[in-house]
Amino acid sequence: MAEHLLDDGEVDYAIVGAGAAGCVLANRLSASGRHRVAVLEAGGSDRNIFIKIPAGFTRTVHDPALNWGYETAPGAHIGGRRIVYPRGRVLGGSSSINGHLYVRGQAHDYDTWAQLGCRGWAWTDVLPHFKRAESRAGGDPATRGRDGPLLVEDQRDPHPLSHLFQDAAEQLGLRRNPDYNSGDQEGTCIYQQMMKRGRRWSAADAFLRPALKRGNLRLVMHALAERVLLDGRRAVGLVYRVGGQLRHLRVRREVVLAGGSINSAQLLQLSGIGDPDWLRPLGIAVAHELMGVGRNLRDHYAARVAVRVKGIGSLNEKSHGLALAWEVLRYFTQRKGLLTAAPGHAAAFWRSRPDLAVPDVQMLFAPASYPAGRVGTASLEREPGMTCGGYQERPESHGHVKIVSTDPRQAPEIQPNYLADPLDRQVMLALLKFARQLFATPPLANHVAHETFPGPAAVSDDDLLEHAKATGSTTFHPIGTCKMGSDPRAVVDPQLKVIGLEGLRVADASVMPTMVSGNTYAAVVMIAEKAADALQA
Ligand SMILES: Cc1cc2nc3c(=O)[nH]c(=O)nc-3n(C[C@H](O)[C@H](O)[C@H](O)COP(=O)(O)OP(=O)(O)OC[C@H]3O[C@@H](n4cnc5c(N)ncnc54)[C@H](O)[C@@H]3O)c2cc1C
Repeated sequence: MAEHLLDDGEVDYAIVGAGAAGCVLANRLSASGRHRVAVLEAGGSDRNIFIKIPAGFTRTVHDPALNWGYETAPGAHIGGRRIVYPRGRVLGGSSSINGHLYVRGQAHDYDTWAQLGCRGWAWTDVLPHFKRAESRAGGDPATRGRDGPLLVEDQRDPHPLSHLFQDAAEQLGLRRNPDYNSGDQEGTCIYQQMMKRGRRWSAADAFLRPALKRGNLRLVMHALAERVLLDGRRAVGLVYRVGGQLRHLRVRREVVLAGGSINSAQLLQLSGIGDPDWLRPLGIAVAHELMGVGRNLRDHYAARVAVRVKGIGSLNEKSHGLALAWEVLRYFTQRKGLLTAAPGHAAAFWRSRPDLAVPDVQMLFAPASYPAGRVGTASLEREPGMTCGGYQERPESHGHVKIVSTDPRQAPEIQPNYLADPLDRQVMLALLKFARQLFATPPLANHVAHETFPGPAAVSDDDLLEHAKATGSTTFHPIGTCKMGSDPRAVVDPQLKVIGLEGLRVADASVMPTMVSGNTYAAVVMIAEKAADALQA
C-alpha cells in the first residue's frame, strides 16, 4: 500500500542538504527577504566539541552520528581494498568534519572548465565569487576578499619543522609562494585554514547560522530527501522523511540539490533521472534519461612517506599524557598548538614533469606521524615523527556512484577506480620519490633519523608503487558525478540546471567537470555563490 504523504506546504526554493554548498545557498537565497526558502538536512545539530576544535577531525571522521560512514567498492588497482569514505551528515555537512585547509586551486583549473564549454566559469569569472565569500586579513585585494562570511586565517603557530620543509623545498628549486590562493599556486607555503581565532569555522557557522534569524528561511533537520517530484519535465517538489513520516514539500520556483557528490547523484537516480540501464533493473521508472548521472566520479588518492625525527620535537610527543593535558590547556587559553592542527601544515605545489605548464602535485607536510602512516586515525605515534605525502592534483582515473537499491537509506556503490589510469600511477611514483628527496635535503635532512614508512626495504619503483596501492587513501574530495558541460555525459548546464528539465538544479561538488588543483571546499563555496546569483537572475 502506498505510504500516506503529509503536505508540508509550499516554498520558493527547496535546498537538499545543509552542507558546504547548501549553507551558502540558504544564506544567499533568503537574503533579500523576497523568497521563502527551505533547507532539508539529513543530519542534526553541529553542537559537538570535536567539530569546534579543529584537530577534532580525527574523531569526527569516524563518528557515525555525524557521518554517512561510506566505504568504497573494492579497487582493482589498490589491491582490492575498500577505502573508508566519510562524508558529513550534520549541519555544515563535510565542512563540519573536514581538514579545514583553504585551497582554491589554480586559475588554470577554471580556464579549463571554460574551455570545456562551461561558459562563465573561467578564472576571471569565478574570482569575484571566491572574493565575495571570504574574509581574509592580509593578502592582495586583487585576489582576496575582505568582508565575506567565510573566515580564512593563517596557521596560528606553525611548527619549526614546517619551515624546514619549506627550506628544503626551496633548495630543490621551489619558491616560497606568498599566496598560493592567488590563482598561481606553484611553490611552497604554510596552509591557510578556515578558522575563527583557532576555532573551526564551518559553512554552518559562516553562512547558515546568521541566516536562520530570517523569518523566510526554514531548516528541517533529520530530514532525508527521498525523491524529486516531477510534473512532466518540471520539478515541483520533494518527498522527504522526517521522524518516520513521509512529507511532501511543494516548490514554486526551484529545487536545488546540494547533497554532495555521492548523495546528489543518488537522489537523481532514486527520482528516475539517470542511465536507464542502471535504473530499470531496480524497478525504477525512467523519468528522464541522463547518462552522466553518477559517472565521472573523481577523487584525490594520496600516499605518504614518514620518518623518525631527531634533534627537534614533533607534534607526536604532544599528543599523549601530560603533554596533551598541557596542549588542551593551551588551546582553551590561547587557541594555539596541537588542537588547532590540520592534516597538512605546509605544502609544496610541484610539477612532476618540467614540460607541464602548472603544478600537477600537491605535497602535504605534517610535523607528525600516524601509526602505519594512516592519517586520520585518532592518535599519533609516540616517538617523534614527520610525514610527507601527496596526490596528483587532477587525476585521470574516474569511477561512478550507482544506486544498488530503491531504499534511499542504503548507500550507493562508490567506485573511484583509484590509480586505474597509468598517468596517475606514474605521478604517484614521482611524488613518493620527491617526498624522499625532500627528507634527504638539508636543513630538513638534519632532523631525519631514519625512514619508518614505507621503510628502507622499499627500494624499486615497483616497491614504491606497491606501497601506494597497499596504504594510500582518499583525501575526501569526490567531485564530478553530476558534471557541468554540454557533452553527452553532462548532467547540468553552465547555469547548473539539470539538462532537459525545468526547476531543478544541482549546486555542489558534484558539478565540477574536472578536478580542481586542491582541496575542494573553497571551490564548492564559490559554486554555490554563483548558483545563488543564477537562481535569482
Ligand atoms: C574528512 C574530510 C576532510 C576534508 N578536508 C578538506 C580540507 O581540508 N579542505 C577542503 O577544501 N576540503 C576538504 N574536504 C572536502 C570538503 O569538505 C567538501 O568538498 C565539501 O564539503 C563538499 O561540499 P558539498 O556541499 O558538495 O557536500 P557536503 O559538504 O558533504 O554537504 C552535503 C550535505 O547534504 C546532506 N544530504 C545529503 N543527502 C541528503 C538527502 N538526501 N537529504 C537531506 N540531506 C542530505 C548531507 O548530510 C550533508 O550535510 C574534506 C572532506 C572530508 C569528508
